[in-house]
Amino acid sequence: MRTTAFGYSTQCNIKCEHCVAADDTQKSEKMELPQAKELITELDAAQVRGISFTAGEPLIYLDDITELIKLCKRYAIYSRIVTNSFWAKSPDRAENTIIQLKKNGLSQLRLSYSRWHQKNVKQQNILNAAQSCKKIGLDYFISFVTDFSKEDDAYENFLRRHKLRFFPEPVIFSGRAKSFERTPLRTDYQANRCPMNPYIAPTLDMYACCDAGSHFTKTNFFHLGNLQDTPARELFKKSETHVLYNHIRTLGITAIASFAGFRARDIIGYRKCELCELLFNSPNTLEMLQKEAASGLQSWHR
Ligand code: SF4
Ligand code: SF4
Repeated sequence: MRTTAFGYSTQCNIKCEHCVAADDTQKSEKMELPQAKELITELDAAQVRGISFTAGEPLIYLDDITELIKLCKRYAIYSRIVTNSFWAKSPDRAENTIIQLKKNGLSQLRLSYSRWHQKNVKQQNILNAAQSCKKIGLDYFISFVTDFSKEDDAYENFLRRHKLRFFPEPVIFSGRAKSFERTPLRTDYQANRCPMNPYIAPTLDMYACCDAGSHFTKTNFFHLGNLQDTPARELFKKSETHVLYNHIRTLGITAIASFAGFRARDIIGYRKCELCELLFNSPNTLEMLQKEAASGLQSWHR
């Protein structure tokens, strides 16, 4: 099923220290509403069946986003909004927003939560938003961004104490989090396969990866093209048929790193996106992998 992350605007009302979406050198960008509507119509024609509104904080533009989810509903496209819950300052305010979103067809709300977000937004907002979703009957989950350090125990306990539905999500050491100290991991040799959800930026540039990969500026490896020049259908096809992207989906980053000569002991010391950056944001390594994509790398499986 074709899905995409949709960056209506990169503007955010807070400034989290770990934000992967932010690059302090870039000014924020925003689509025009009519252009965004046309794009959703085009995505429907390209058989996209799920859209996640993300990038900065989508609900700064609550009325525009409401228009866009209404359009998704008309096309039977599953819609999700990723939000920091700044708007859920009281149970009443949370409920009014959730009613508006649900009435206009939103399928799911994803609440971002972490010790970094919560320096700017009260934990109580998350609770107000989640409890309103339960009351109004809107599907929700909490994305608990963590570096797995002890400091995060209190944040996880808060979610458990209030019986909220949450999933831990490893912090990505990219964007503002690039200089964070890495906590040691205790996992074994994970495959690190990546489903690779594409991302459409407000500039209409489309990337094959919606996370750190859109910041690989030395090689622009994940940049698929711009929707002003190329139809969405073609850019999705490019993403789906790209041999190296498909190796990321099926072989995984770990096997590709091993093929590229990384020692097993070193591989387990990196996070998935860091390893991905070493492989695909290095012009020399990328050139070698491109040459081997349909030969040596093709046979690098058990
Ligand atoms: S992590 Fe989310 S809420 Fe925080 S600054 Fe980035 S876009 Fe805004
Ligand atoms: S591992 Fe690579 S493809 Fe996967 S999310 Fe990270 S940067 Fe993107």
